[in-house]
Amino acid sequence: MFQKILIANRGEIALRVLRACKELGIQTVAVHSTADADAMHVRLADESVCIGPPASRDSYLNIHQILAACEITGADAVHPGYGFLSENAKFADILAAHNVTFIGPSAEHIRIMGDKIEAKRTAKRLGIPVVPGSEGAVRDDREAKRIAAGIGYPVLVKASAGGGGRGMKVARTEADLSHALSTARTEAGAAFGDDAVYIEKYLEKPRHIEVQVMGDGAGNAVHLGERDCSLQRRHQKVWEEANSPALNVEQRTRIGETVAKAMSDLGYSGAGTVEFLYENGEFYFIEMNTRLQVEHPVTEAITGIDLVHEQIRVASGGGLSVRQDDVRFHGHAIECRINAEDPRTFVPSPGTVTHFHTPGGLGIRVDSAVYSGYRIPPYYDSLIGKLIVHGRNRVECMMRLRRALDEFVVDGINSTLPLFRDLVGNVDVANGDYDIHWLENYLAQDE
Ligand code: ADP
Repeated sequence: MFQKILIANRGEIALRVLRACKELGIQTVAVHSTADADAMHVRLADESVCIGPPASRDSYLNIHQILAACEITGADAVHPGYGFLSENAKFADILAAHNVTFIGPSAEHIRIMGDKIEAKRTAKRLGIPVVPGSEGAVRDDREAKRIAAGIGYPVLVKASAGGGGRGMKVARTEADLSHALSTARTEAGAAFGDDAVYIEKYLEKPRHIEVQVMGDGAGNAVHLGERDCSLQRRHQKVWEEANSPALNVEQRTRIGETVAKAMSDLGYSGAGTVEFLYENGEFYFIEMNTRLQVEHPVTEAITGIDLVHEQIRVASGGGLSVRQDDVRFHGHAIECRINAEDPRTFVPSPGTVTHFHTPGGLGIRVDSAVYSGYRIPPYYDSLIGKLIVHGRNRVECMMRLRRALDEFVVDGINSTLPLFRDLVGNVDVANGDYDIHWLENYLAQDE
């Protein structure tokens, strides 16, 4: 087991990892920018190192500084959290070259899944269902037209190097296609320096359903069920649940086993999430995240398995603590991402949180690094806390969520709490009857 883990992150996820390390009796090192000197993760860690000025590229993304912090403190492993360097294959390589363990999958698997076309090709080879479309990048308009005619309109033109929903264009008819191709290429070239694009069938009303997996790198892999993250705004997840209200046990088992088998064949190591669009009973792979995700606590709530413990065990060579037969799903869990943003316009609202009071009681978990008097710096993402509620079934979970939201107090800044208070009372949400466009349509009604 590791002696000392350096946590290359900030905010709630740094605390989350720190808690797991403490439980396992592992020393912790926090790193921080000058803007985060008074942050909770710095206060609670055994040691801390300032790694640079506020801008992420100079601190949390600064590989040399983080490596230096490992050397100064003698950390033998790094947990990257999510975001920042968590899916940076070069970072994983550099750590390995310095005999520091990267708590995550191999650099090779990070690279494969980081390239959309390569990821899709790999998924298909491993028997994971993918969206019908071109095999790799399309060369020219003629080839694109031929492929689009084959799969049928509407189609989606996507950038190979894509991310954050950029470089994506829908073509509803052949007449739209040339224009969609040229705008997607221009956007992709400007955003990613790579104008390769590919084509997929455009799904009109899908849900976003993702499968959590854990592999030991030696051919054993388990799935921990799925999460439904269909409630999104601008491709950002807002509300996540486990299990999905749209799946039955048979569908859950089938897709879970498909993914676990694929990860076992790949020899995948650590935590990963295989993301799908789901429509009319069919799953379509969109991407794989080779890291812990923001919404992992809903899976922890219904399985009782600590994903960060598992990540650390696997990275240290201790293998997985569970086999597929040990995994059981209990009840239902929902996570609300509380952001420091205006609940209608979503304009960020950094500043001092004058009063912060979190709900408690049975089935409630709040992951947050905020405290009363904390000043939210303007340099990073606006997530200030995650409210995770667990109940014996979805109805109980929703009742508990409603009262937990009533108890939650965030004063001094704007937060998205009022949005969740609206959502928890909405009929479609209560019925679990929503697709990936539902939230945007709901928000547009008020404008
Ligand atoms: P990015 O990496 O840019 O976020 P993704 O491939 O993950 O790109 O897709 C982002 C979002 O775009 C998905 O969550 C979904 O909302 C939408 N999307 C992607 N592919 C399709 C498709 N074939 N049909 C419909 N919507 C899609």
